[in-house]
Amino acid sequence: MRPFSYDRAAGAPGDAGTTWLAGGTTLLDLMKLDVMRPERLADINGLGLAEVRLDAQGLHLGALARMAEVAGNAEVQRHFPVVAQSLALAASQQLRNMASLGGNVLQRTRCPYFRDPSHAACNKRNPGSGCGAMDGANRLQAVLGTSDACIAAYPGDFAQALVALDAEVTLRGAAGERRMRFADLHVQPGTTPERETTLRPGELITGFTVPAGPWAARSLYLKVRDRESYAFALASAAVALDLDGKVVREARIALGGVATVPWRAAEAEADLRGKVLDEASATRAAEAAFAAARTHGENAFKPELGRRTLVRALLLAKRMEA
Ligand code: SF4
Repeated sequence: MRPFSYDRAAGAPGDAGTTWLAGGTTLLDLMKLDVMRPERLADINGLGLAEVRLDAQGLHLGALARMAEVAGNAEVQRHFPVVAQSLALAASQQLRNMASLGGNVLQRTRCPYFRDPSHAACNKRNPGSGCGAMDGANRLQAVLGTSDACIAAYPGDFAQALVALDAEVTLRGAAGERRMRFADLHVQPGTTPERETTLRPGELITGFTVPAGPWAARSLYLKVRDRESYAFALASAAVALDLDGKVVREARIALGGVATVPWRAAEAEADLRGKVLDEASATRAAEAAFAAARTHGENAFKPELGRRTLVRALLLAKRMEA
């Protein structure tokens, strides 16, 4: 690992050369791999920012709340099950005990070419160098939101719950505090895959607000992976339903494991609105969700797996008590 300086942060903003340290569960791995090379770490664990609170407006989560704490909160499990489940199904218990919510949404891709500097070609790590995964080992890579420069899948789970439920994220930086839709935090790779978020230099995520809605209680996160624990999603679906009997008033859907960013499946939602929810309508919605999928050899199975995951998630959510 390269030398770096360590400080306890008194508060945002930092400057462009400062990297925030919370749980460290992603950052330290990438420093050891020589993928991330921060000169200064500012430890933010003394800043508070750990609230977990529900009120009439919704769910308020501090960026430094730990994944395990939120996943195990009985009120979150009851009123926002998709949030609790997306956190409980991620990583291992030890990692969930350490990892912060803010760090979790900013975790970097698991693309093997990105994580191993001995591979020369990776546009995300080394802009302009090419993409080793495009014609290489790409079984885990994305099929939605890709570009000719990068096909790396976004690896997280919690972010899908936030996107599906129209959460907001609060940020603090040199210009003060601002809030924006969580869906606007991550950006698709396009021609600049090294740019992953709309965070400004030195800006810090301080929290998330998940609005209350008639769909929040009938929500779930379904994750399909190579093994049943401690693995990243091959495909996942965060779904939330507001039903009038068997008819869909409103569906909220986000997909994971298949896209370059936490992926809102707006076409599938529109397809379901006003329809009786059954296997046929869920299948049509899933087909709409993956209509624009683009595969690259080894990941050709993902659209079908993604469709089946979404159909199953919708039918399971329909059976829930809300
Ligand atoms: Fe790098 Fe993206 Fe290509 Fe992976 S898919 S090698 S992260 S450019």
